[in-house]
Amino acid sequence: MRVVLTYDTENIGECVPKLRTIVGVHRRFEAPLTIFVTGRVVYHDGAELRRLIDETPEFWDVNSHTYSHSRLICKPPWSLPVPSPQFIYDETLRGVQIVRDVLDRPCRGFRPRSGAGAGFRGCPENLNALRSAGVTWTSAYLKSVFGDSLPCDLSGPFSYAPDGFDDILELPGHGWQDCGVKDFGRGTQYAVRWPSPFVYPSRLVETPQEEFEVHRGTLEAALAADLPFCCFVMHPWTMIRRQDLEGRAIELLLDHAKRRGCEFSTLDAEAQRCRENPQLLIPAPPVPPQRVVSYDVGRLFA
Ligand SMILES: [Zn+2]
Repeated sequence: MRVVLTYDTENIGECVPKLRTIVGVHRRFEAPLTIFVTGRVVYHDGAELRRLIDETPEFWDVNSHTYSHSRLICKPPWSLPVPSPQFIYDETLRGVQIVRDVLDRPCRGFRPRSGAGAGFRGCPENLNALRSAGVTWTSAYLKSVFGDSLPCDLSGPFSYAPDGFDDILELPGHGWQDCGVKDFGRGTQYAVRWPSPFVYPSRLVETPQEEFEVHRGTLEAALAADLPFCCFVMHPWTMIRRQDLEGRAIELLLDHAKRRGCEFSTLDAEAQRCRENPQLLIPAPPVPPQRVVSYDVGRLFA
């Protein structure tokens, strides 16, 4: 199995310096990394980020995380604004284009803020915008189909052909997004801790070792499920924190993956591998019932 560590790079002034620490850990394991960067970060910190990437360009798979980190998927909670098709289109195209213009990377991949169960299944406006932007894969399936909560399901990659977009692949994330298992001092994550096949922390993690145990549980579950790759969803600003200034949790995870015989990869490389080996793809999951605005969110908990 391949292992991919991905980092959603979304905070101006904070994420790029922390990425420098993170890539230092990755270099020690010769493990490339995948990042999703917002247009706002590229606008403000693009020169610094480009210098960092250009030091070891072969290590980096650079993709879009929207322009302004706005909500782009129509899903509960409906108390938040539902994005209009025009807004989805503008956010998607601006976000992708600035990565290409300022960072000079192809930007074939896209990840929306927070993700959703089954990714962009049943989201034609999003898929249409992605096609217009020349995006060929997304990593949007980051929450469980059970109420768009964490941890995320253990899904294999699939094509959006049933939505009419056979040119776009979905490469899901797996298990806990790192920000969902710890208290990072900015409010707790919107997450329903449903019983899952993964290691299930009884409380928010504190030490790097405790965080590693959660991710190890995901990696072992992905191995048991015989997935082609296991994709971790992380954030520079929550991975490098007061309790873990040097990225020890990342180091422990990379070391464990290596000892388990996993190879390190990027999502762009995995997208290419899936195109060349379509037998790696699973049938697309059904569109979750909560995808439409008329859905009664109370039914999730009935
Ligand atoms: Zn984000």
